Amino acid sequence: MQDKVIFDLIGQELERQRNGIELIASENFTSLQVMQAMGTVVTNKYAEGYPGKRYYGGCEIVDQIETLAIERLKKVFNASWANVQPHSGAQANTAVFVACLKPGDKILGLDLSMGGHLTHGSPANFSGKNYQAFHYGVTKDGLVDYEQLEAVALKERPSMIICGASAYSRDWDYARIRAVADKIGALVLADIAHPAGLIAANLLNDPFDHCHIITSTTHKTLRGPRGGIIMMRHDFENPMGIKDPKGNTRLMSSVLDLAVFPGMQGGPLEHVIAAKAVAFGEILNDQFKVYGQQIIQNAQAMARAFVKKDYQLISNGTDNHLMLIDLRNKNITGKKAQETLDKAHITLNKNAVPFDDKSPFVTSGIRVGVPAITTRGLKENDMENLVEFIDRVLMNIDDEKQVLAVKEEVKQYMAAYPLYPELG
Ligand SMILES: *Cc1c(COP(=O)(O)O)cnc(C)c1O
Repeated sequence: MQDKVIFDLIGQELERQRNGIELIASENFTSLQVMQAMGTVVTNKYAEGYPGKRYYGGCEIVDQIETLAIERLKKVFNASWANVQPHSGAQANTAVFVACLKPGDKILGLDLSMGGHLTHGSPANFSGKNYQAFHYGVTKDGLVDYEQLEAVALKERPSMIICGASAYSRDWDYARIRAVADKIGALVLADIAHPAGLIAANLLNDPFDHCHIITSTTHKTLRGPRGGIIMMRHDFENPMGIKDPKGNTRLMSSVLDLAVFPGMQGGPLEHVIAAKAVAFGEILNDQFKVYGQQIIQNAQAMARAFVKKDYQLISNGTDNHLMLIDLRNKNITGKKAQETLDKAHITLNKNAVPFDDKSPFVTSGIRVGVPAITTRGLKENDMENLVEFIDRVLMNIDDEKQVLAVKEEVKQYMAAYPLYPELG
């Protein structure tokens, strides 16, 4: 008997996704075949270990699936090693910490309130509890403060410097960060969870030659299932000097594999790994570069449209798929903006802006991203219309009638961009 309650709710979620404008920068719409791969019998299989070295029988098929996922991912980023088992981006970062650091070691990452991520040393997260975390920020112009990064690094001598962010609209100078790390013998971790798809499409700086280890999610701009990955282009001897039973120093790739399993996770989600393999196959198709280019064109068109209406963009623009907007000149909080836009079926998130004077639950800003609407087929000339919708809601923020009118127009607008028509 079908579980009507849950499948009804799944149907409602499909309608919600179809009727709205999705501007959450970390979300996307996978292809139908990515979802189909995930919803299969592969979910039934236990496969602790790695291809060819499992702790369970019957792994000959999932071995091929996982090997294909690894080989495709290496090709996507021209990497020499990859692990596709982390259940999420946070798990991927945790595994790197487990592999490279001892509890109490010093780490240096971008401050959460300046666009960084919880797992980069926030006191609320394991990374800030188990390690001694230091932070760099952004300048008044909203750009990563590389001078501060260097000053803190030279003073505190962290074992690892983390670059990457969740709410930063500019590209990174990976070479400059590596040069700082080399002065103190630190490792560099690049967490490319957000811009990974644009890096895969060669549209942003390539972190792989400068950063020792790269982590990412697979569900943001890579447009795959929810999950995490760890990669390297150049393997190296592990910094902790871990020896195998024969007394040989282990390579970092081997230490990282051991940190994911058995260090941190149990059985891998082979059905999700199958879906990751499908997504990586799609990225290797030439069409993905076109998608990446359209993301950047859409983000820039949207940024221009916001500026035209006197919205203040942090760093005055964007190089990637997102923008961060300070709403203080409009006298609206991030919380109020998010909640009211939700009523008009425009989804995005409130976000602290650099040097914010409001709490993280209220915030002065919103984060706006275009990967999902770009997947739906919206182009540059749509961006002005979207900003018009947003502006109408924000300028009539206490006028329920206006907000509901926008909701109807949004629904009509998005009907022209069918989402999963095959699902009926
Ligand atoms: C999204 C994100 C993550 C975490 O990914 P989850 O899959 O939600 O655990 C890690 N790092 C950065 C920079 C992110 O933006």
